[in-house]
Amino acid sequence: MPQFRLVVAGMKYIASISFGKDSLAMLLKLIENQEHIDSVVFYDTGMEFDAIYKTRDQVLPLLDYHNINFVTLRPKEPFLYSMLERKVKYRNKDGFHYGYEWCGGSCRWGTTAKLRAIQSYKKSLNDYVVDYVGIAADESSRFCKAQQEGKILPLVDYNMTESDCLQFCYDKGYSWNENGVRLYDVLDRVSCWCCRNKNLKELYNIYRYLPTYWNKLKELQLQISTPFKGNGKSIFELEERFKTYGG
Ligand code: SF4
Repeated sequence: MPQFRLVVAGMKYIASISFGKDSLAMLLKLIENQEHIDSVVFYDTGMEFDAIYKTRDQVLPLLDYHNINFVTLRPKEPFLYSMLERKVKYRNKDGFHYGYEWCGGSCRWGTTAKLRAIQSYKKSLNDYVVDYVGIAADESSRFCKAQQEGKILPLVDYNMTESDCLQFCYDKGYSWNENGVRLYDVLDRVSCWCCRNKNLKELYNIYRYLPTYWNKLKELQLQISTPFKGNGKSIFELEERFKTYGG
């Protein structure tokens, strides 16, 4: 069992929480171990699954009970505005186009906005910040960068892997249920529903089990000329493929 961290005067202890399995497990464990937390910070892209918002609502009374401040950060401009309407200068030629289009892969403009918002929130505290981040014990490729940025990784101290985190949350009564489907049964990662990083298996599962989100993806594809997963893999082409061949 890890030792309590000493609470240092003049420091702010914040936990960055997405309400996915890893960050939620970290938060529940920190609370269980009576670690000091001043604020839980949630960055809301506006494109989260409903189950994420429901999970947040499930956690809020617990934060209240422990006198933990809850802070929601949002993008400066709405996600959909940046995706579809914002005037954007071409990189390598003259002129403009509208909207950054899909977010994910090498073009993660939503992540950039998130990091900026969190950074400026931390700056606004005018204090030294201890930033708890939910990177699991089996995500070693992410340790180095996070540690260089001075983040604290409690799940590594607790030796909790990604699957430990999921089971821990299930045991505590969190299941990310979307109309009878547990999101972690059909998705590898629960991120924005429109994230381009989703793999074909996840997309098939969205098509098959989460039709509301599939329809939303179709609406976006109608407004974005670039195919979601590259040439021959627009949402509509994927739908044809899934209908014909399955996943
Ligand atoms: S989860 Fe995906 S879509 Fe959402 S901000 Fe991150 S990269 Fe962009």
